[in-house]
Amino acid sequence: MNPAERAELVRRDKRYVWHPYTPMGPYLESGKPLVIARAEGSRLLDVDGRTFLDGNSSWWTSLLGHNHPRLVAALGNQAAEFCHVAFAGITHEPAVALAEALSLRAPPGLSRVFYSDNGSTAVEAALKMCMQYFQQNGAPEKTTCLALEHAFHGETLGVTALGGVAAFSGPFRGLGSFVRHLPSPADDLERAVDALESELRQGASTTFALVLEPLVQGAGGMRFYDPAYLAKARELTTRYDVLLILDEVFTGFGRTGTFWAADAAGITPDVLCLAKGLSGGVLPFAATLTSERIFSGFLGDPSRAFHYGHTYCGNPLGARVALEVLRVYEDERVVERAQAKAARLAAAFQRFGRLPGVARVRSRGMCAALDLESEVGGGYLDRAGWRIYDLALERGAYVRPLGNVVYLAPALNIPDEDLDQLLEILDECLTLELT
Ligand code: PMP
Repeated sequence: MNPAERAELVRRDKRYVWHPYTPMGPYLESGKPLVIARAEGSRLLDVDGRTFLDGNSSWWTSLLGHNHPRLVAALGNQAAEFCHVAFAGITHEPAVALAEALSLRAPPGLSRVFYSDNGSTAVEAALKMCMQYFQQNGAPEKTTCLALEHAFHGETLGVTALGGVAAFSGPFRGLGSFVRHLPSPADDLERAVDALESELRQGASTTFALVLEPLVQGAGGMRFYDPAYLAKARELTTRYDVLLILDEVFTGFGRTGTFWAADAAGITPDVLCLAKGLSGGVLPFAATLTSERIFSGFLGDPSRAFHYGHTYCGNPLGARVALEVLRVYEDERVVERAQAKAARLAAAFQRFGRLPGVARVRSRGMCAALDLESEVGGGYLDRAGWRIYDLALERGAYVRPLGNVVYLAPALNIPDEDLDQLLEILDECLTLELT
């Protein structure tokens, strides 16, 4: 694409497209989008032939790198057979094989798989499943759900109500009447455990579920917390008969160093929500796993069925790719091999922590973050991280911040030389900006 064609494409983009999470006024005026022509491994290639290291594995999806040849082949092979069929009264090998493989790979006891097509719907399905379960199994008064301050669980209205980030859920505050927010363990573990315990002691009889992003509150600012909270949450929810929903849309598939974040606490939730890495960044696909206890609560009279399902649920392309994702993890020992990379990432962020203007650093597995000191107090709308974003782009890295939080969550199998280059670029940008 020559420069004139590129300019024309951007003009048409600005004329017709509404981009997500993008203040469109400034974008229309002076936004300079990357125009991507190809993506390969941990690199994005634009139409001008420039390459960019993908610092967030494209919104945390391509955990095995872009266009992994085995995933592309799986997609092509399935497409040659059939691309989509309804999933009611119909079944097919990819969806069955994947459900079996997921239930074997999941924490023990999660033996039923319900499909949908993105992270939000994976959590939305979990909410409806848990609420309906109690409605028709002897506890219809359980209509409240617990979530954490600073939580993020997606975009539909139901899961927006779970959200605890004002920049995202503020305009829809009125919808949250079925949700109670609790203090986050990322701020103070002891206070969070106490608050959960006292909430459940008083309110369990009207509460159907507790929803958590295990170990990391991702979009809320890469806020990490201790696995001890998960263990305690499991113990308390079991004691008070409140269902525990773990949203592993971000953390699943090895991001935090174990295959599931739940593994760090050795727990099994009642419901596990998966998307993003599940289909390796190839196409939208999601799954909500649950136990026989919950599943059996929908048997019997047809009125007790889960009358819910998205058009593309169980999509054979997604299922076939996801099955291949699981095989690649095994064959390439992805999680084990990421350990040494995670150590490199952690060491680099420790060094960044010594720079003036860096308030705090943290890392867990293949995710590391730092908070830039900020006059406006941080948060998603803070612009501090965007100066680093601009500098990094000029140097060949895509490092999209969350307000004043600059983080890396690259592919788990990023080659060591790419990881080193990414860290060098970030080092250079931080040094330039802060010293
Ligand atoms: N849950 C978590 C923990 C997420 O991080 C996200 C997206 N960032 C979602 C749910 C929503 O996923 P999706 O954008 O695929 O709907």
